[in-house]
Amino acid sequence: MTTENELKPHVTLDTIVSLCKRRGIIFPGSEIYEGLQGTYDYGPIGAELKKNVKNLWWKSMIYDRDDVEGIDCAILMNPKVWKASGHVDTFSDPLADSMGPSRKRYRADHVEPIECTAFEVIDVTDEGSEKRIEGAKIWAPSKKKAKEFYQTWWEKHLGLAGRRVKLEEVAGSTRVGRFSPDDGGELGEPRAFNLMLSTHCGPVADSAAKVYLRPETAQGMFVNYSNVQTSMRRKLPFGIAQMGRSFRNEITPKNFIFRTREFEQMEMEFFCKPGHLCKEGELTDDQWHEHWVEYRTNFYVKYGIRRDHLRFHYQTKEELAHYSKACCDIEFLFPLGWQELEGIANRTDYDLRMHMEHSGKDLKYFDQELNTHYVPYVIEPAAGVDRAVLAFLTDAYLEEQVKEDKRVVLKLHPELAPIKAAVFPLLKNRPELVEMARNLCREMKQSFYTVYDDTAAIGKLYRRQDEIGTPFCVTVDVDSLDDQAVTVRDRDSMQQVRIGIDKVRDYIAGELRGKS
Ligand code: ATP
Repeated sequence: MTTENELKPHVTLDTIVSLCKRRGIIFPGSEIYEGLQGTYDYGPIGAELKKNVKNLWWKSMIYDRDDVEGIDCAILMNPKVWKASGHVDTFSDPLADSMGPSRKRYRADHVEPIECTAFEVIDVTDEGSEKRIEGAKIWAPSKKKAKEFYQTWWEKHLGLAGRRVKLEEVAGSTRVGRFSPDDGGELGEPRAFNLMLSTHCGPVADSAAKVYLRPETAQGMFVNYSNVQTSMRRKLPFGIAQMGRSFRNEITPKNFIFRTREFEQMEMEFFCKPGHLCKEGELTDDQWHEHWVEYRTNFYVKYGIRRDHLRFHYQTKEELAHYSKACCDIEFLFPLGWQELEGIANRTDYDLRMHMEHSGKDLKYFDQELNTHYVPYVIEPAAGVDRAVLAFLTDAYLEEQVKEDKRVVLKLHPELAPIKAAVFPLLKNRPELVEMARNLCREMKQSFYTVYDDTAAIGKLYRRQDEIGTPFCVTVDVDSLDDQAVTVRDRDSMQQVRIGIDKVRDYIAGELRGKS
């Protein structure tokens, strides 16, 4: 039996990235202008996939339950919100610069300390004499690596291109530390770098007009807690959820859509009674925390994530934020390894208390049964839309050998599939077939997203749809003119069945429901 530790990603990130580009799922942002680091654009297929992820989250969090309300807040909020939430003072990552020629900046906690030796650069003149180059110290785990650093960064920087040089180990310099993985420069002392992106509101760009692009959606729920509770006549426990854009000036955005500077979140604040006030039979905040860990895990599994590709990291006392009572990171085996997909925290009454203090408004809850006021505790499942998209793409990706050929197929859950069915005429130069196929496509569109395609031979059309995860392909052939039937091909089994043209729409709708 494989254990979680032995599991390896079954697909590389490069494979997913190239599929996304090739098939209109995700493109690098502003590509014709050399891009903008940390931004990506969803193409026609990706936009559908992302919309489906968000709709399913909304359904699972709001429509399937009766204890959560959905809201949609402004991205720009009064800057006092971010002071109260602690983001102005503490939402930062440790930033460290390479002292090497690249001057690249790193999140210090993302650079593993490794054992390296310093190598000096010696310029060898035509006459054979040697000159040590001042300030050229390359840290590397081996001489080979030091040479690579030299060739990629140092040679040009030192103006030694075309010269004969030697790299000489500095005796006794070997030590464990943090060094730039790009140029072998030593990393400087880390300093706090605030991750919030800011802009100005109104026509005057002075500091009084400074506002932030929200770095999380959660604060919208806290500041509207009273509005929602009173307008919707809610009693505890209940949740408020929203999804939308968030912005973080990440020091090193990387790994495709895993870490970007603009992304989408799906978050919920679940307000509940603090455990010590609960009576027998009522769920405590700890129990609600467990409930949400399980509920969110089941969501991912239901829509196609392998259960053994998920694991839970319960933060230790040292890792927990000072106000947090517990936090479980749901980790997924991404192509880059195990990483956080969603965090579920028990934030106690911290956020509401902070907003009470800074706004001067009373956000306490009046519990009629206990005849007392208190500040509710909050359980927060915070998920990233883009990370969920990447996770679903990863687990859906499959390469199969079909006779001589390799078939790439995205075995996406039908509700996630961007396109539910595609209709093709077998021969595009037969107007009767084209007309029949187009009419059928138009009819099927009434029930689910269907596309028409005649831009390639049938085999190629199947492969294209397989690669974007379309569950069904329908082919109109010459026989269809006589028997008024078409061939329906199943993405996963590749089995084909002949179905009367007047029954296709219901047949596929039924199959889609059956697979859901
Ligand atoms: P990380 O430790 O990976 O930076 P985080 O713990 O700061 O993430 P949270 O603040 O808990 O993340 O945000 C909730 C979710 O939002 C994360 O689990 C992740 O799915 C998503 N998320 C956070 N930052 C980014 C980002 N820069 N790009 C894409 N998704 C993100």
